Amino acid sequence: MSSDVIVIGGGVVGLATAWELLRSGATVTVLERNLCGQEASWAGAGILSPLLPWDYPEAVTQLTQFSAYLFLQFVEALQAETGVDPEYQASGMLVLPDSSSQAYVEPGTFDKYSRMLLAERWCTRHAISVQEVQSSQIAPSLVRDTAALWLPEVCQVRNPRLLQALIKTVKGLGGKIVEHAEITGWKIERGYVQSISTVAGERHSAGQYVVAAGAWSRRLLAEHAEALEVWPVRGQILLFKVRPGLLEPIVLDERNNFYLIPRRDGHILAGSTLEEAGFDKSTTPEARETLLARAQALIPVLAEEKIVAHWAGLRPASPHNIPVISVHPAISNLYLNSGHYRYGVTMAPGSAQLVVNMILGKLQPLDVVPYQWPV
Ligand SMILES: Cc1cc2nc3c(=O)[nH]c(=O)nc-3n(C[C@H](O)[C@H](O)[C@H](O)COP(=O)(O)OP(=O)(O)OC[C@H]3O[C@@H](n4cnc5c(N)ncnc54)[C@H](O)[C@@H]3O)c2cc1C
Repeated sequence: MSSDVIVIGGGVVGLATAWELLRSGATVTVLERNLCGQEASWAGAGILSPLLPWDYPEAVTQLTQFSAYLFLQFVEALQAETGVDPEYQASGMLVLPDSSSQAYVEPGTFDKYSRMLLAERWCTRHAISVQEVQSSQIAPSLVRDTAALWLPEVCQVRNPRLLQALIKTVKGLGGKIVEHAEITGWKIERGYVQSISTVAGERHSAGQYVVAAGAWSRRLLAEHAEALEVWPVRGQILLFKVRPGLLEPIVLDERNNFYLIPRRDGHILAGSTLEEAGFDKSTTPEARETLLARAQALIPVLAEEKIVAHWAGLRPASPHNIPVISVHPAISNLYLNSGHYRYGVTMAPGSAQLVVNMILGKLQPLDVVPYQWPV
């Protein structure tokens, strides 16, 4: 039996979209090439904020802020429905500013304090709590004691648990999940998708189709999305295990574009790289060495023997980190929800709501023009 909507891709974006559709009463099938929740969404770090929020265009700010507003309800509902705790918590983010950076410094006022002041003003304008602190006040285990910015409301989740909860809730609400179903074929007639087919030749049809195939979205849509710019950018992460409580806030070292994220049980994630390596998801010894050196430079006790895992994922990169959340310009039942680049976990609840509003013809809570399908 065909569904109202087929979602292609079982990452955080596809699953959140499927959940939102199910909650609105639609019947939904998720088609996933491998297993759900194993790609970028699994590999990601789980910070629920842009790293330097003041560095991004308004389209990123409005979507991440809208999502941040939805997130608490999102995880509470997930936990209530599934019993899985995604470890959502406001651990705060301590930004160690790069005093050598010229970015966002007003001409003639170049010093680290004016840069911090600009960031503080930006936060105040966007109702984001911020304080200027000494780093040792917030994170005594850091060896570097410096003037820093403290964003106490920044939250995090534990990605594998969030995905586990999403899969469970989609199934629990009657959503159909078909794994090992790689979509390769489109049957499109008179501006309408009639059906899609898998590499094994199985056909699937529905009233509406949402592509949420992450870094693979452009490849999957091929000639139906020639102007679309979504491409893979590899990110590698090291996982350490130390005593719980050694580090409490997320720490972002701006100079090295590097962060440490403490989990409740003493795991610390150190990441991440930004690499143009096509669809190659391997880890490299060079990245391991760089990430280890950066971690040790902040907290020396993070040594080689404390590394318990090293992985890589492929982010769905997009120009200026602005995703496409839109109907196709010429195919009326084809939607795209992809290109969330560095912030797909953060943006998932908000972008799911936007694409579902489009499908159902509902009013939008924000201006969706910036997320239009490029032609
Ligand atoms: C190292 C790293 C750190 C990150 N840190 C953060 C962070 O702290 N905060 C944050 O918000 N974001 C972070 N991100 C980004 C975030 O993880 C991504 O933006 C997000 O996961 C994208 O979700 P997605 O569902 O679009 O893609 P994916 O999770 O990649 O899911 C896409 C799915 O589509 C499937 N698929 C592809 N092609 C087909 C096909 N032809 N047929 C069927 N299925 C198909 C894939 O198998 C995959 O399961 C990070 C990413 C990485 C790699």
